[in-house]
Amino acid sequence: MKLLEEKILSCGTVLSGNILKVDSFLNHQLDVELLNELGKEFYRLFESDKITRILTVEASGIAIACFAAQYFHVPVVFAKKGHHKNVGTDCYTAEVFSFTKGTSYTVFVSKKYLNEGDNVLIIDDFLANGQAALGLKKIVEDAGANLKGVGIAIEKGFQDGGKNLRELGVKLKSLAIVDSMTDDSIMFREDD
Ligand code: 5GP
Repeated sequence: MKLLEEKILSCGTVLSGNILKVDSFLNHQLDVELLNELGKEFYRLFESDKITRILTVEASGIAIACFAAQYFHVPVVFAKKGHHKNVGTDCYTAEVFSFTKGTSYTVFVSKKYLNEGDNVLIIDDFLANGQAALGLKKIVEDAGANLKGVGIAIEKGFQDGGKNLRELGVKLKSLAIVDSMTDDSIMFREDD
């Protein structure tokens, strides 16, 4: 998506450890007009999938998921982060290794907010090694719901998450795929 690529080029900065910082429009300050366009694009890509719920993980995925949900007219459920021992039995849980923090945490979703037969679209801001998306995928499966797709704002194509999800047969749509990045250049994958 050209609009997102241009925004990354003009406002993104590359940090050590393969981190792309997009705090000025996606992860801290939010560019709501851009987010609205991302939401609209996710709707175009998954419109035919009869989505009944959007699932994301706190905190950075929530804003994007909400903009998308306005087009799908479905609720957003965000997985909460916590420690396993504090999570009750009325929740679906998954362990996620955080790429940015280097530690594992538990994500959990109340059984009240994900139903058997739901058609779920997972949305997140970034895809790196795919741990967050795989954790959410497990939660969807544990609930007996159908994973209809994964929508990502920025995929880092030089990490394994995208490849792994595609190999699992997941319908994965990333609005911008960064193929390489250095201090002074960011290269995107051409659209399929
Ligand atoms: P994964 O689970 O795919 O390894 O990493 C995805 C999660 O880590 C996303 O939810 C995102 O919050 C965070 N993340 C991964 N890479 C980056 C990055 O380059 N920049 C930022 N801001 N967050 C990232």
